[in-house]
Amino acid sequence: MTNKQAFLEAKKYIPGGVDSPVRAFGSVGEDPLIIDHGKDEFLYDIEGKQYVDYVLSWGPLIFGHCEKDIENAVINTAKKGLSFGAPCLLETELAKLVLSKFEWLDKIRFVSSGTEATMSAIRLGRGFSGKDGIVKFEGCYHGHSDSLLVKAGSGATTFGYSSSLGVPEDIVKNTHLATYNDLESVEKCFKNADIGVIIVEPIAGNMGLVPGNLEFLEGLRKICDKFGAVLIFDEVMSGFRASATGSYEFNKIKADIITFGKVIGGGMPCAAYAGKKEIMDLISPLGGVYQAGTLSGNPVAMAAGLASLNKIYATPNLYDELGKKSKFIIDTLQSSANEAGIPLQTDMRGSMWGYFFNENPVKNYADALKSDTKMFAKFHAQMLKRGIYLAPSQFETSFVCTKLSKDSLDKTASAVKESFKAL
Ligand SMILES: *Cc1c(COP(=O)(O)O)cnc(C)c1O
Repeated sequence: MTNKQAFLEAKKYIPGGVDSPVRAFGSVGEDPLIIDHGKDEFLYDIEGKQYVDYVLSWGPLIFGHCEKDIENAVINTAKKGLSFGAPCLLETELAKLVLSKFEWLDKIRFVSSGTEATMSAIRLGRGFSGKDGIVKFEGCYHGHSDSLLVKAGSGATTFGYSSSLGVPEDIVKNTHLATYNDLESVEKCFKNADIGVIIVEPIAGNMGLVPGNLEFLEGLRKICDKFGAVLIFDEVMSGFRASATGSYEFNKIKADIITFGKVIGGGMPCAAYAGKKEIMDLISPLGGVYQAGTLSGNPVAMAAGLASLNKIYATPNLYDELGKKSKFIIDTLQSSANEAGIPLQTDMRGSMWGYFFNENPVKNYADALKSDTKMFAKFHAQMLKRGIYLAPSQFETSFVCTKLSKDSLDKTASAVKESFKAL
């Protein structure tokens, strides 16, 4: 079966043929690859073609596909049962490991997706502050819960809707939109409404890669302190990706709640939110903020997360090495674009890297939207043809994994040069 045939078949039974919209390759006008298997830095489609993978399941696979320690942990744990709906030792072990790296966070609650983590963190933040209003930034994506699906990035940007059908006005009326990297827009929100929570991606990765600048993030901390609001750093993507401590390595700001996902599960469905004791103790069964999950903290997800994080902390210079790979790629992109006379903006944080077909530096969502998405689509197709699998949208971040070899980097560099020439 070809990719095309398999996708046609899938579309008969699954809306759009996919279980998450951006996978449909809609914004680049191609058919998606249907994946057979992955190994190290490679994906293999059902036609048997090999691709260097810079999507890495949208972030989780920092050690690439089929990493032995993670694979063994999952297999061995699965043999003892997949889920108990009762406490297991691995939950406490993973909790201790994560919290030991963030000295100001006292407790953590595990859930199964980033969406659940941010949704629950918002509920907790509102419960703690006693105020309904929240501030979210245009272009930041925090999963698809109702109150956060307003001018969200990721698939929601790719598909050009600023919101979603089926989200009641009554719910989003408490969501106040501000401009990323713009403190004045945040102050305005606080002037106009009773705000109890700010949620932000400190390193935005869902409108393309747009790091928050230091004054902006420090300003958010100050505003929250002044108004008694809860600061949530959504590090579902940047956690254990930008560095071992996510954005903290770069900004040294202590958020009240941090949400984790992606890498924390090593490829299994696992996410979490962590905070100070006085906040976290408000969660049921200790306090009045309800949150639960049938498969939360299941042993297999915990084992995958533990194996992944243990390996991260046991690997010296991990993020320096990953950073060198990111740097090599964005440097190649930039120099090839310059040679071709095509305006391009590039940036990176650790193992995250991004590029915009844009004349000017991108500081916020409005800037990102000025990118040349048609040019992006052409570039994407050229790269795919040459065996390089990039995220199929201008408004996503790309990643590198530890397994990415010199050969694959060289192959990528050649593909980049040839693709720019072909544009
Ligand atoms: C991926 C992501 C989410 C949503 O996580 P899911 O596991 O897809 O629900 C939330 N916030 C950020 C910053 C993300 O990158």
